Amino acid sequence: MIVTGCLGAKGNVVRDLHPRVLAVTGPHACEEVMTAVHFHLPKPHDPFVDLVPPQGIKLTPRHYAYLKIAEGCNHRCTFCIIPQLRGDLVSRPIGEVLREAENLVRAGCRELLVVSQDTSAYGVDLRYRTGFWNGRPLKTHLTPLAAALGELGAWVRLHYVYPYPHVDEVVPLMAEGRVLPYLDVPLQHASPRILKAMKRPANTGDTLARIGRWRDICPDITLRSTFIVGFPGETEDDFRQLLEFLQAAELDRVGCFSYSPVDGATANALIDPVPEEVRQERQARLMEAQAAISARRLQRKVGRTLHVLVDSHTEAAEAVARSSADAPDIDGVVYIKDGAALPVGEFAEVRVVDADEHDLYAERCGTARSKRKNHRSNH
Ligand code: SF4
Repeated sequence: MIVTGCLGAKGNVVRDLHPRVLAVTGPHACEEVMTAVHFHLPKPHDPFVDLVPPQGIKLTPRHYAYLKIAEGCNHRCTFCIIPQLRGDLVSRPIGEVLREAENLVRAGCRELLVVSQDTSAYGVDLRYRTGFWNGRPLKTHLTPLAAALGELGAWVRLHYVYPYPHVDEVVPLMAEGRVLPYLDVPLQHASPRILKAMKRPANTGDTLARIGRWRDICPDITLRSTFIVGFPGETEDDFRQLLEFLQAAELDRVGCFSYSPVDGATANALIDPVPEEVRQERQARLMEAQAAISARRLQRKVGRTLHVLVDSHTEAAEAVARSSADAPDIDGVVYIKDGAALPVGEFAEVRVVDADEHDLYAERCGTARSKRKNHRSNH
């Protein structure tokens, strides 16, 4: 028996009265009802017709996957044409996102990388309406989504999160080990004049205060950001403000792009383009300054024990792994000496013995006992 309709939206009213019902959903929940039907009455597998596995087809290795929670963007940054191409923000129903995540974890995925153009805006287009996951009502909002994803037993990593006030609610989940203590916050610049020309919703003073609060709540948090240098009109003084911000913020991971015009972007109409060689030179200066900050921060990890996920092996019999601080492809890695026997896609415990500007070097101290263990590291 599956119950669907308005009463289904009212918490546990139906379940309390009839605990044996298989599923309860709110109204207009065709997809949830069909998922419940297929769950309790699975179709027999037909290898000639069922070419797509239940977890879908993905291009990443089996042990991590990108989980897209929304498409489009409500911002209008002047250097970007994504809103023209993909339109305004359209959030996926929370139940659908969680079912996809569940299928991925069931199929062996150990890490879910939550992505969208603006992850912190998730649900705003749906007015944070209540959706359902396994009969449980959940608001279409980043915090309940992150908490529910954290129940699945995989690492949960959040990308493209803007420093809005409500993001503060997610950080305690990181401190509790429910989602990875990692936030990818694209800030783009620190000079108020340039941020205004970029039409970015940011205030450098507030951002520094917010970063400080996040670190108070979760001292282990890794912060990643990306910046654009050489935006039209950027003066040496604007650039200096950006460098000062980096010194004050001490971000763990930083990507830097030298500005390049995109066809159709409104920034193309801005006067005062920065010459190519100046853009390149500023990019190099920024990366040099950040490399020193990164090296300093990584050095503090020497001697610590980390929980890592093994990605691959090198010819030198090392395992290449990542800790909570390392997103695939964009951040550093942890090289594990004598790690050839560590299976790809499994967790391990390692002790950090050395560090450079971007990577850590570690030795094994046994394999992780539990695959469900989140990010906790022993100090
Ligand atoms: S840069 Fe990001 S936030 Fe700005 S318009 Fe493009 S997608 Fe939206």
